Amino acid sequence: MKKEKGLLIVLSGPAGVGKGTVCGALRKEDTDIQYSVSATTRQPRAGEVDGINYFFKTRDDFEEMIKHDQLLEWAEYVGNYYGTPIDYVRETLDNGQDIILEIEVQGALKVREKFPEGVFIFLMPPSLAELRARIVGRGTETEDVINKRMTVAREEIDMMKKYDYVVENDQVELAVERIKSIVVAEHCKRERL
Ligand code: 5GP
Repeated sequence: MKKEKGLLIVLSGPAGVGKGTVCGALRKEDTDIQYSVSATTRQPRAGEVDGINYFFKTRDDFEEMIKHDQLLEWAEYVGNYYGTPIDYVRETLDNGQDIILEIEVQGALKVREKFPEGVFIFLMPPSLAELRARIVGRGTETEDVINKRMTVAREEIDMMKKYDYVVENDQVELAVERIKSIVVAEHCKRERL
């Protein structure tokens, strides 16, 4: 019998929303989800271990990976390359295991093109939710301020529309619970197909 493929889960969202913190908290939970380790050209931070937090690469090595199609996606972020090695993702999915990618928005949209069946989760900062509610519900501020906030909000909302789920990161534990529920729901949905 053909083995059921695992779920490709992409956790993404704007800079500073806390993707790393939420993913780290999810990792501590007892789930069967595997985690993709990205390659990067940025310097390791204190305590980071090669092969666990990232595969730390030189720019030349990273560019070789791009050239040899070894990355599912990659992006340049604040002067450094970041990318997802494709082999581990493929092997994990073929083994019937779920895998989560914690990546920034440009990369997530590239994964969407290659894996439209993936589960795309947008982690939203609570401050944006507050901002949105204020802009939409009250509109009591000066026009200039409203316009500026609307511009930022629109950009964020535009990104959100490309995702399957939006999870508010108001509290890390709650965000983790929501993500776990999404994974359960997605399994139930696919078992029916
Ligand atoms: P940091 O340098 O703080 O670890 O990560 C910077 C940003 O790069 C974060 O938004 C993180 O989610 C993103 N990132 C980490 N790995 C990857 C990856 O493989 N691909 C892409 N596109 N972004 C990544």
